[in-house]
Amino acid sequence: MSLADSQRSFALVALIAAPLGMAATPPMTLQVDARDITQGIQHAHLTIPARPGPLTLAYPRWIPGEHAADGPITQIVALEITAGGKALPWRRDPLDPFLFRVEVPRGAQSLDVRFDYLSPPKVFADGYGRTPNVTPHLLVLPFNHFVLYPHEASADAISVKAEVRLPAGWKFDSALHPERVDGDTLFLPVVSLYRLVDSPLLAGEYFRTVPITEGAGSTRVSIASDAPGDLAMSDVMIAGMRRLVPEALALFGPGHYREYVWLFALGNNLDQQNGLEHHESTDIRDAEALFTDPARLIEHRTASHEYVHSWNGKYRRPAGLATRNYQQPMVDDLLWVYEGMTRYLGDLVLRTRSGLVTPDQARAYIAWIAALMDADRPGRAWRSLGDTAIGLPGYSDAPAEWSPIRRRRDYYDEMLLVWLDADTLIRDLSGGRRSFDDFCGSFFGGPERAPAVRRYSRSDVVTALRAVTPFDWEAFLTSRVDSINPRAPLAGIDRGGWKLTYDDTPNDFLSAREKVDGADNLSLSLGMWIKPDGVVADVVHGSPVFAAGVAPAMRLVAIGGHKWSADAAREAVVRAENSPAPIELIVESADLVRVLHIDYHGGLRNPHLVRDPSKTDLLSQILAPKAPPPRH
Ligand SMILES: [Zn+2]
Repeated sequence: MSLADSQRSFALVALIAAPLGMAATPPMTLQVDARDITQGIQHAHLTIPARPGPLTLAYPRWIPGEHAADGPITQIVALEITAGGKALPWRRDPLDPFLFRVEVPRGAQSLDVRFDYLSPPKVFADGYGRTPNVTPHLLVLPFNHFVLYPHEASADAISVKAEVRLPAGWKFDSALHPERVDGDTLFLPVVSLYRLVDSPLLAGEYFRTVPITEGAGSTRVSIASDAPGDLAMSDVMIAGMRRLVPEALALFGPGHYREYVWLFALGNNLDQQNGLEHHESTDIRDAEALFTDPARLIEHRTASHEYVHSWNGKYRRPAGLATRNYQQPMVDDLLWVYEGMTRYLGDLVLRTRSGLVTPDQARAYIAWIAALMDADRPGRAWRSLGDTAIGLPGYSDAPAEWSPIRRRRDYYDEMLLVWLDADTLIRDLSGGRRSFDDFCGSFFGGPERAPAVRRYSRSDVVTALRAVTPFDWEAFLTSRVDSINPRAPLAGIDRGGWKLTYDDTPNDFLSAREKVDGADNLSLSLGMWIKPDGVVADVVHGSPVFAAGVAPAMRLVAIGGHKWSADAAREAVVRAENSPAPIELIVESADLVRVLHIDYHGGLRNPHLVRDPSKTDLLSQILAPKAPPPRH
């Protein structure tokens, strides 16, 4: 990190601590009435300090952590702007539907703004504003849903005093503590708009808070669920969370938070397997059975992933994502650090070091990612990994179908392989004296014990890597991130002392994922994923079923002379291994029923890592605990 960068970041720390102008103008006030849990309509009332003349109010468009212009503008209705009780006409900006223009009348010192926020009845797209935030038993309030603000102001410089009225008797938690609670109304302290939006509130009828670590920088888990039995985070997982914190501190140094809370909202109607990161909390949404279904726990990586974001993403942030407010467009070109390194450190390294998964389960996960990126990504032939990051704002609403050729958000999964490559390379080049942990300590460490933002550029990443181990890291990244690579970067697995192989033994992570997703995965053999009703979810270009003419949304009727089922398909694949005859598949598409022939004889293929005894087992060294064992 350069000196100029330090100066910038400390200026921003000061801004967060004491927003400029807070003393001069009264704060904006926000009242959210969140009592309607049957129709899910939340009422927002803002008073916004204003001076006479033209004013443009903005509804948050670019949502931190979502990296896209997906603010839920379609969910705000009944917008009414008044001054001194008199309605003011508003007009939307013709070039930006998130901006509302009004003329503040003479003599007015503030505007009253009222609107309703409609919780979507079901998930309709990616982003928390396109998914329900309320069920009959719980609600999550991300405050960006409920604000309009002067469009040119910085989110650090606007001060807000918010009140929230909850359903009677509900419990709640948030990183932002109310200064007063009166009945079911919470009175939050005056904070910057940045901090308010960074501090979502979770509330529910069935609620449980579990302390994780105590003392300065304490951590806790709070859970709201649709049924009391779903609060049952197991003692084993609690023990894992209690090891996750010291493992993260051993890797990064002290947290840049005053306290940290994992907020879990569990409901089958909510977004699933998702989390949104904040400096001092995370808003995790998942299925009711998250803590009670073993398959979900093998698959669940969100808790450790979002926690890593407190350092990687919130504290250290790519300059193009450290925007001054929610209207400034985000530049996503470094998401392969922000998200991709979080995939490596959160989903794999810290999750395994803390014992939330076993090393066997971790290797099954790596094998699944390696196979997915290497064998199921024909899109690698036309798009670089870096392009999947840069292109995100245009792809955040992409349909799920044809993902292998389009490439999805591969800057997450593929970068796990790239950072493993870098970690093993550092260990190799330094003769075992240095590792990626040294990079993490220097890049994400810092003196702040409260939220702050320190920006970085790509060259800062390269400089920090070079400081750990001299190497041409720019060329390393260029070849893996910016270039077209028909094959996935598997060098880290090999250098780590393991090999990617395929056989017919199930991969535990892949099996868990099939259960959680509710789709059968035959992508590595036939080349498709299939929903339980036999509808093709997706197809790999160039695969055997693609060559036969299968496309997403077709319905499979029969395979190998048997009525369609995933088991019948697996049996047909096994039979074809020793037969030259093609596999017969009957498919229904619109009003046509067709018989297709699949020329595939490669058998069932599940990915695994197997040990290469000729090399040092660096991977096991990477995944081994580093923090001192907890004292009793
Ligand atoms: Zn993330």
